[in-house]
Amino acid sequence: ADKRECDVNEELRNMVTLLTAQARGCGVSLDLRCGTLPRLVADPEKLRQAFLNIMLNGIQASPEGGTVRVTTSFDQEGDRVEIRFTDQGPGIAPEAISQIFEPFFTTKGSGTGLGLPITKKIVEGHGGSVEVTSEPGRGATFKVLLPAVG
Ligand code: ADP
Ligand code: MG
Repeated sequence: ADKRECDVNEELRNMVTLLTAQARGCGVSLDLRCGTLPRLVADPEKLRQAFLNIMLNGIQASPEGGTVRVTTSFDQEGDRVEIRFTDQGPGIAPEAISQIFEPFFTTKGSGTGLGLPITKKIVEGHGGSVEVTSEPGRGATFKVLLPAVG
């Protein structure tokens, strides 16, 4: 859709600013660590939506006093930008991992189950991918990979 040169770190800073008060209200800290990144040709509004969905899940999963850490780096060999979101929540059960990107899968009383499917669609629409790893009881990490081509 509306692709133009954009700065992923800048978009993440915007999302962190937007979410800081809400996170603090839950006793959760947001910690953004930006690496040096090339500019991407991307739709910044869509990227923000993708990041927002992952960060909201991280905040919602966090215990009081927890931190949602967001780290960016550039994988020169793969020529892609990596954005890693790590929380200290309960993690994701192995049997749920394969379902969380399915529309309407939710474990929340009033969840929509649409956040992650939308995120996946946006990231794949940019030629990228989303990976999740989780150690149950010790949190979850979502890794978004975006190609630096363009
Ligand atoms: P929703 O947030 O409305 O439930 P999502 O698509 O955003 O829908 O997430 C789907 C499900 O994936 C959640 O209900 C939850 O079970 C799981 N999930 C997503 N992110 C996390 C996380 N950071 N920690 C633990 N579980 C998660
Ligand atoms: Mg969600």
